[in-house]
Amino acid sequence: MVLGSDVKSAIRKYAIKNAMDYGKASEGAVMSKVISLFPGSKSDMGLLRSEVKSEVDKVNSMARNAIDEEYSAYSDEFKAAEATKAQKSALHSFSIPGAEHGKFVTRFPPEPGGYLHIGHAKPIFIEDELRKAYSGKLMLYFDDTNPDNERQEFVDSIKEDLAWLGLKFDSEYYASDAIPSLYQYASSVIGKGMAYVCTCNTLEVKKSRDSGIACSHKSQDNATNLGLWEKMLNGGFGDNEAIVRLNSDLGSVNTTMRDPTLFRIKHSPHYRQGKKYHVWPTYDFCTPIMDSTNGITDVVRSKEYEMRDELYFAVLDALGLRNPRITSFSRLEISNNATSKRKIRELIASKQIAGYDDPRLVTIRALKRRGILPAAIREFALSFGMGKSESVVDISVLLNINRKMADKGAKRLFFIESPAEMHVKGLEGVKGISMRLHPSVDLGNRTYYAKSDVLIGSEDAKGLRPGDVVRLKEAYNVRIDSISGSITASYGGSENIEAKKISWVNKDGSVKCCLWDIGPLLSGDSFNEGSIIEKCGVAEGYASNLDEGDIVQFEKYGFYKLDSKAEMRFLSL
Ligand SMILES: [Zn+2]
Repeated sequence: MVLGSDVKSAIRKYAIKNAMDYGKASEGAVMSKVISLFPGSKSDMGLLRSEVKSEVDKVNSMARNAIDEEYSAYSDEFKAAEATKAQKSALHSFSIPGAEHGKFVTRFPPEPGGYLHIGHAKPIFIEDELRKAYSGKLMLYFDDTNPDNERQEFVDSIKEDLAWLGLKFDSEYYASDAIPSLYQYASSVIGKGMAYVCTCNTLEVKKSRDSGIACSHKSQDNATNLGLWEKMLNGGFGDNEAIVRLNSDLGSVNTTMRDPTLFRIKHSPHYRQGKKYHVWPTYDFCTPIMDSTNGITDVVRSKEYEMRDELYFAVLDALGLRNPRITSFSRLEISNNATSKRKIRELIASKQIAGYDDPRLVTIRALKRRGILPAAIREFALSFGMGKSESVVDISVLLNINRKMADKGAKRLFFIESPAEMHVKGLEGVKGISMRLHPSVDLGNRTYYAKSDVLIGSEDAKGLRPGDVVRLKEAYNVRIDSISGSITASYGGSENIEAKKISWVNKDGSVKCCLWDIGPLLSGDSFNEGSIIEKCGVAEGYASNLDEGDIVQFEKYGFYKLDSKAEMRFLSL
């Protein structure tokens, strides 16, 4: 297969646009743009990837003014595309048929058994949009009825992450605080013969669900069931020795309806309730009751729960409780990343990642550490609307939104990878230079005295020959005298001349630092060994004024956030 000329010209155009927007073109961003325009090009990913790589490399080695020039040739076309995109996203309306202004109440229901991740961002921001649209309420509901999983640390981290995302709640409540009333609801359904106590072991329960054949407990009379229920509450059973099951339909096509578990026994202490309870409701029993009794009008959730909707309403019907309305949309997933607790724990245990805030992850704290702005997460999460078509998205889409937002505040600095020394005769005593920290936003200037020892990149150094005249970007022209051993040159004026421009920094005051380029965490199902590429070198002296969290754009390298001031480590955005 060969790529069509239309695909090839799109690769070139978007590499130029990407370099124009972010200082440097990124393979991932160009790939996803081209694939979105030409889905057919995916049929030979290897070919596409190599074509993109070669074009991105070419563009990244071009001088800035050449990129500017080529960009302006395409700019009308880009403007038209941006306008269509803006129109499209304005079309996403966040609404629910039948929802009423002033009467809308929804909730965000995390289990405090882990950290929030990008997948949670979509429901929470949609809920927040709906709250605004209907002048309604948004509650924070901790679904905490599994003492084995849950910890106060997770409650705290969830609240901290939500606050960082800019979300405010009208009230906050916990399922575990409602256990006594949940027991009463249980007694009521058991007493009516709508649920029964089953003492089969886990394997037998599974077998009976798979085969659709009832165990003997399903036909127990109500008095026997109530007696066993009392025994459960009084501590007469150990963990997993008895469960309460909905007396439903073992032959149901919807497997969640095959006499699901409503209560189970767990004697381990609970982070919030201590040893007060050992009979715990399942999500399926607890959630509909908590929603209905707390005034929730609308449950807004991703569609992997759709199978459970029938059960949700069956529990409420058995109790004669009001039904909230459920609206589902597709789940948001990031390709080549991990959000499951099990997978993340494995990666931490094998020391492949450092913790839940490892910048390769898509937990909210990892995104925060990496320099992703809350507003970018919001825009990204909402850009998919409330539709049901699956969204597995490359993280570059989020990064692109973020870079656009970060751009205005990002100071432009020089970074030199594996520096080479250059001694410039006649430079000492020349007027110092003052350079803008941003080309179009007034972020101030940085000023350097002229010093005879400067550092340039070893790649640039390799291309130099005696007699060459080059321009140290935005500053001085120099003529190369000798390149044997160290490089020596002579000062040749400051006026902007037509000459090769190279990045440089004063050796005096330069700051050692390392840039971490962050790539996909996983490759298929396994850990991507190349997920961090470290580039070490020096940055210009101004870098010592930066604070942790500051975002900069290193010319020719792209956007980075200062992650550790002690180690002068920057993370790629
Ligand atoms: Zn049984």
